[in-house]
Amino acid sequence: MQVFKFGGASVKNASAITNVATIIKAQKGKKTLVIVSAMDKTTNALEHVLHSFFSRNDYHPHLLKIQNFHHQVLTDLNLDDGIVQQNIDTICRDIDNLLSNHSQQADKAYLYDQVISCGELLATHIVATYLKKSGIAAVWHDARHSLKTNSQYKSALVNWPLTRQVSEEKLLPVLENNVVVTQGFIGSDEAEHTTTLGREGSDFSAAIYATVLAAENVTIWKDVPGVLNADPKLMPDAILFEHLSYKEAAEMTYYGAKVIHPKTIKPLANAHIPLFVKPFMQPEAPGTKIFDFAIEHFTPTFIVKEQQQLISFHLKDFSFVQEKNLSMVFQALNDLQISLNVMQNAATSISICVDSDAQKLEQLTAMLKGSFDIRYNNDLHLVTVKNYTEDSITTWQNADILLEQRTRNNYQIVIKPAFSQVASLEADS
Ligand code: ASP
Ligand code: MG
Repeated sequence: MQVFKFGGASVKNASAITNVATIIKAQKGKKTLVIVSAMDKTTNALEHVLHSFFSRNDYHPHLLKIQNFHHQVLTDLNLDDGIVQQNIDTICRDIDNLLSNHSQQADKAYLYDQVISCGELLATHIVATYLKKSGIAAVWHDARHSLKTNSQYKSALVNWPLTRQVSEEKLLPVLENNVVVTQGFIGSDEAEHTTTLGREGSDFSAAIYATVLAAENVTIWKDVPGVLNADPKLMPDAILFEHLSYKEAAEMTYYGAKVIHPKTIKPLANAHIPLFVKPFMQPEAPGTKIFDFAIEHFTPTFIVKEQQQLISFHLKDFSFVQEKNLSMVFQALNDLQISLNVMQNAATSISICVDSDAQKLEQLTAMLKGSFDIRYNNDLHLVTVKNYTEDSITTWQNADILLEQRTRNNYQIVIKPAFSQVASLEADS
């Protein structure tokens, strides 16, 4: 059994969905579990619906746009099957009912997950129906019946034993003779309320299902040739890695490589399940294989993590930074579940670089302002050059660097976005 994951770009419109059918047909009946994300930017569009709701504006136009978009795709695919049309209308009506029955004071994270999960539901109904129409024995499966989590809405934690048990029970028999199409990113808690795994979490869903169902391998179908040593939009001559160890791939996701969701690698590595990253427009191409690969690369690899915040904590009384000051900052970060991307301490201050989150910054400031003067900069980029050479980092020699760190292998800087272009760099292979 293999697991295929198609992200938003690979199902962004009717022709992309036709391409998905072509890829699956080429598998010639191999047992396949297909994980699908929301089409194109639907998740962002659903966030707009919620934003309007919470700011007491009329969310209906945004919702209608989403509904119309999916209907248009049905038209473009010539899917006049009344059931799938009804499914789309029902999902959109449910969102409307849910919001009109809640006040703006309702649990935000809970409502978020109930609404945001609909992008995947809409997409999978369309994909499953289209596959069936193309002659593939496809069965739609509701991931909320097999991927079980706790109730930490917006970033739910997987209940692995239960997910394994229910997935084996519900999916293995169906996979015998059918291609199963299900949603990435979503699951449900003990009370059967919908939960989500965090933005871009569909890759992680693919890894979860592959692990609990002991798949032979996972393929993530992307709009890039595989895993490259830089974002091809920033560096047109980026190099493709044909083989990568789990460790190297995991490190790249940690530093912010967007090609794979950071949580994806660990379960696959532990179960020794290979992960392929392949271009959906060129399904025959080898892409990148991530597995128990023993060789390390020394190619400089450029990773830009966007929307970063640099926060510095200055001791108020001119005393030096001590372990107890560090410990206070770490404790607060842990309590607020803020992950640290880079940190540095100086004589009288501690600086940390984290993903931007206005709400968490406010909470962090409230917790620590008694002990520190807190300053911050927003809208920054964290650039990591893994396996850097002196040549590979010359681009930034005149940049306005807010924080810099070097180890023997890694070069990291926090800079204003204007300086993060690496396009002029020659890759040093
Ligand atoms: N649709 C969700 C998102 O856009 C999950 C995913 O794409 O993986 O975040
Ligand atoms: Mg997506």
